[in-house]
Amino acid sequence: MASSIIYGPVPSWRLGRSLGIDLLSTNGKTCSFDCIYCQLGRTVYPEVERREFVNLDRLAQELKTLNSVAADYATFSGVGEPSLASNLGEAIELVKSVLKLPVAVLTNSSLMMRDDVRHELSLADVVVAKIDAPNEGLFHKINRPAIRQTLVEILEAIRVFRKGYRGKLALQMMFVEANRGYAANMAKVAELLSPDEVQINTPLRPCGVSPLSPEEVAAVEHEFSNFENVVTVYKALKPETMPFDLVETLRRRPKL
Ligand code: SF4
Repeated sequence: MASSIIYGPVPSWRLGRSLGIDLLSTNGKTCSFDCIYCQLGRTVYPEVERREFVNLDRLAQELKTLNSVAADYATFSGVGEPSLASNLGEAIELVKSVLKLPVAVLTNSSLMMRDDVRHELSLADVVVAKIDAPNEGLFHKINRPAIRQTLVEILEAIRVFRKGYRGKLALQMMFVEANRGYAANMAKVAELLSPDEVQINTPLRPCGVSPLSPEEVAAVEHEFSNFENVVTVYKALKPETMPFDLVETLRRRPKL
């Protein structure tokens, strides 16, 4: 089936068989960040304001044409930052009602200071929030944000979200050469945010920077020994999946 909003399922080391929902579906990447390790290349459309990219009638049509899909999660992700879509909350409710799957959102956390974004994210069963830096300098070096807000403001927004959120909050932390010496500082940041899980990542898909080795990631993980639930990209198991549309899937996930 040809689809421009729904893709996958992709094998996810964090979410098992993950059926992707791309509420942006733009031709190039639309994001409030331009991370140095992004698998999608440079940000084509830097965006900081929310708007509707995909009409929900279109999403409803695509959901209707899905036959039974073997997936563990419906995951809002795709060619950029999903919380830029102003209909994220409605889309989460629609997907939940049709697919009967738990819903996850992968977010770069950049819009979480907004009440509407925190409310809409709270409708998801799992929110995976990105934090890659313990200070403003590294935040700008690694994430190259288009937003004016500071890292401190983003961290405070995640803390506020955590207080009211009843679902699973995971922090995803991407480690590269630039921040690998700051793992202890990152663990302190994570402690302030009380996540249910910490996900330690390094870019294994083709991108502009080299991944850390398994030994380097293990050294990073060691700094998080105070946390009960820590998963790392090298240790986690990935399930086998069969995307129903390889072209649409590879557009969002250049290497499965
Ligand atoms: S937030 Fe995600 S999509 Fe946006 S630039 Fe960073 S890695 Fe790429």
